[in-house]
Amino acid sequence: MSSITAAATSAPGRFGERGYGGRYVPESLIPACQAVAEAFAEAWADPGFRGNLAALLSAYAGRPTPLTPALRLSAELGVTVLLKREDLTHTGSHKINNVLGQALLARRMGRTRLIAETGAGMHGVATATAGALLGLPVKVFMGERDIERQAHNVFRMRLLGAEVVSVTAGSRTLKDATSEAMRHWVTDADEAYYCVGSVIGPHPYPTMVREFQRVIGDEARRQCAADLPSAVPDYVVACVGGGSNAAGTFAGFVDTSAQLIGVEAAGGSGASHGAIGVLHGFRSLFLQDEHGQIQEAHSIAAGLDYPGVGPEHAYLRDLGRARYVTVADDEAIAAAVRLARAEGILPAIESAHALAWVLRAAGTSELPAGSTVLVTLSGRGDKDITTLIEEAQL
Ligand SMILES: *Cc1c(COP(=O)(O)O)cnc(C)c1O
Repeated sequence: MSSITAAATSAPGRFGERGYGGRYVPESLIPACQAVAEAFAEAWADPGFRGNLAALLSAYAGRPTPLTPALRLSAELGVTVLLKREDLTHTGSHKINNVLGQALLARRMGRTRLIAETGAGMHGVATATAGALLGLPVKVFMGERDIERQAHNVFRMRLLGAEVVSVTAGSRTLKDATSEAMRHWVTDADEAYYCVGSVIGPHPYPTMVREFQRVIGDEARRQCAADLPSAVPDYVVACVGGGSNAAGTFAGFVDTSAQLIGVEAAGGSGASHGAIGVLHGFRSLFLQDEHGQIQEAHSIAAGLDYPGVGPEHAYLRDLGRARYVTVADDEAIAAAVRLARAEGILPAIESAHALAWVLRAAGTSELPAGSTVLVTLSGRGDKDITTLIEEAQL
């Protein structure tokens, strides 16, 4: 047993002794994953690639994003709250950081089209955007039920020129769309590049997506160094669906004294309440029933509606380097409305989960008065207006 564990730990793309991550895909996809891993390693070491990506992030996506002190909220809470404003990027969330990186990589690899899976449609819209920008046709796999529920984002993808493929298998949601996208990739791996939307999937995706998102944490680190007497905040907080905005934020602070807090939706709490399992090509923590069947997640925030968590988060949890907590739907709604009224910023309901933990913990031993806390606002709330108006009962 111990030799198996040792092999698992040292294998590429493994996180920690419990062997999170890895590459659990059909034999036919191993070469495709290897090709992406090699191309990424080369590209990331190439100043030319890094320069192209940095130029797009600045001239197209609107980076660097500001670090905004939330002055009125801070005064109310007795802690200093700083907001990392991913809501101000083009397309309105951090997802653009990752898809621009992967689309550039696809072009460098000579791939001629992009495929992606999407649940609520946000990653689909981001991929459709990057495809339009770089002239790469995009095919987005989406569950039939999600297509009905997220008509607006389906229209956005079509307007951007993407093809939306309806997946009618299983529960007709994200889980099935991901499986279908992987099946399609098997048949078209020479031409198509599979653009994964979070720090999940087979190696190298969890590592690669973290590296594309670390721009959030690296920028925030520099901004804190310039703005804060302490240079580093006491707490760094981000919401966790698959975990990409949190992974990118944490990457900038993992070597500091800052306490890292990942906030999951109560109904999608893989890191907080999951057990070890394998899904979508990687080993990690997943919500499961007593027979080991993966449970469906339920959150008012579509982006947090995932039963598992990226393998590096499972590892950070085991290490005790990051702590994972949960927030209920109604707390997140209240936090979104409070931020709107205190600061004039309407966050995505996903991002409001991170803020809700701050509201709950401020002034307690979990987040003592006088602390400084950085919160990543992963996206803006325009997409959530209907839900917010219905749920907030204003
Ligand atoms: C998709 C999404 C998330 C969740 O994804 P992560 O990979 O966990 O970051 C969070 N916030 C917004 C606004 C999203 O669109």
